[in-house]
Amino acid sequence: MAPVSKASKKIFDYVVIGGGSGGMAAARRASGIHGATVALIEAHSVLGGTCVNVGCVPKKVMWNTASIYETLRQAKGYGYEFGPVQFNWSIIKNKRDAYIKRLNGIYDTNLQKEKIEHFHGHASFVNETTINITKEGSDPIEIQGQHILIATGGHPIIPNVPGSELGISSDGFFQLEEQPKRVAVVGTGYIGVEIAGIFHALGTDVTIFSRTKQILRKFDPIVKDTLLKHMQSQGVKFTFDSKVTSLKKSEEGITVEFVSDGQKGEIEVDVVLWAVGRAPNTKGLNLEAAGVKLDDKKQIIADEYQNTTVKNIYSLGDVVGKAELTPVAIAAGRKLSDRLFGGPRFSTSKLDYVNIPTVVFSHPTIGTVGYTEAEAREKYGDENIKIYETRFGNMYFSVLDEKEPTAYKLIVTGPEEKVVGLHMIGKDSDEILQGFGVAIRMGATKADFDSCVAIHPTSSEELVTLR
Ligand code: FAD
Ligand code: NDP
Repeated sequence: MAPVSKASKKIFDYVVIGGGSGGMAAARRASGIHGATVALIEAHSVLGGTCVNVGCVPKKVMWNTASIYETLRQAKGYGYEFGPVQFNWSIIKNKRDAYIKRLNGIYDTNLQKEKIEHFHGHASFVNETTINITKEGSDPIEIQGQHILIATGGHPIIPNVPGSELGISSDGFFQLEEQPKRVAVVGTGYIGVEIAGIFHALGTDVTIFSRTKQILRKFDPIVKDTLLKHMQSQGVKFTFDSKVTSLKKSEEGITVEFVSDGQKGEIEVDVVLWAVGRAPNTKGLNLEAAGVKLDDKKQIIADEYQNTTVKNIYSLGDVVGKAELTPVAIAAGRKLSDRLFGGPRFSTSKLDYVNIPTVVFSHPTIGTVGYTEAEAREKYGDENIKIYETRFGNMYFSVLDEKEPTAYKLIVTGPEEKVVGLHMIGKDSDEILQGFGVAIRMGATKADFDSCVAIHPTSSEELVTLR
């Protein structure tokens, strides 16, 4: 084993492990705003983590790409005439990669501007204050932190079935050099639904494998059932109550063998996407050396202040798995740095995990905040819950043969009708939700919604005129 570099056994106020959404935000707030000495360790050659490199950002570029294709088809219904539309996957892939490279550069510059010392390498604990950093071709380095943050994110799960390596994960989706003609998507959470939607909108033949009879199982029925029905009407194929049992190389692609409703079946596709969830990045951190404890899902145990089970060691973002969303990791990172380095004014600073809005970039999009109907009934009791619902066709589709559903549900509780849940599906739900999210966090009631004069003609006006 190579000797540990003595010269670099520096002590920092804050050592941050992981240069993704949470780690970057925490490091920048601690150093740039509060003047702490900060080291940030990132295993990859680029900064930005999942969101920038293989998550939200490249996904949204592909969602935009797919949405433009849909709009071009719809344009004909509005009287536009043009020849056959040619789409070149590799053009947008190259532009997307170049955009991400620019973002990686901006992240590098931000660290330098904020005087954060950036270590490229894999971090692991030596004890509760010392971190070892290893990188191929370099001597290991040890640094120390008065405070240490673990923000190491997660990675896609590849199930243990014969031939599973023939499939790709969402990481592999972003490496595809050309558009496959036939795709099987296994899993119906955020990633399965979003990537299946992108492929389908771009004309790929898509078969989705669900281990239940549902998609987006944890969401409110108004959004998940509406989306499922719409995707089926659009020609996306579903295999319910199914288990993929093996993948085999075939002459023309990959054979997917499965059992569905007790019956064996197989289909041939060009690409299989595993979208069966993500697991936390805790392996290789040598957490035992510091005494940091994990839960039964191997996620780091952290309390509402992001404290782990060890004093002065904190954790947040996907590796704790509370709400695996970029703005959650960012907000938790900033709040924690305020608390640690911002002085007495911030001594109770913490992220409130209630009423976090979230969007599924499906076609059409889903926006949701607060409790689902089942959760609200469970929490407040049936007699204390009232549901307001509407379903309609967005005016955009009035002149088109193609129709897309819109459905909104507002869940209120108590005599004052406080809003405790909003679930929407329909064009632009992704953009509409943010403002309503503010109102709901402020404790808005149904009467507050109704007191806001409608904006006409929009679809969101239906939310302030619900009967
Ligand atoms: P990450 O961003 O994953 O960063 C962790 C970093 O730690 C990584 O860079 C990793 O290399 C590094 N690391 C790990 N172990 C070590 C180690 N031992 N030493 C040094 N470095 C280490 N969220 C949204 O809000 N909106 C979206 O639209 C959205 N779309 C998504 C689409 C996809 C396909 C995926 C996969 C995720 C998406 N997410 C989205 C989720 C979002 O990307 C994550 O919630 C977010 O990136 C979590 O941030 P984090 O800081 O916890 O982890
Ligand atoms: P999810 O937890 O959302 O979904 C996992 C899916 O895989 C579920 O449908 C689950 O089924 C299914 N599944 C699990 N195990 C198996 C199995 N063995 N065989 C078949 N199916 C299986 O995880 P994702 O990976 O889609 O996303 C991870 C997280 O990333 C999300 O929870 C979200 O927080 C974040 N994300 C956010 C996005 C956004 O903000 N727009 C976009 C993408 C990701 P079942 O429902 O039956 O449990």
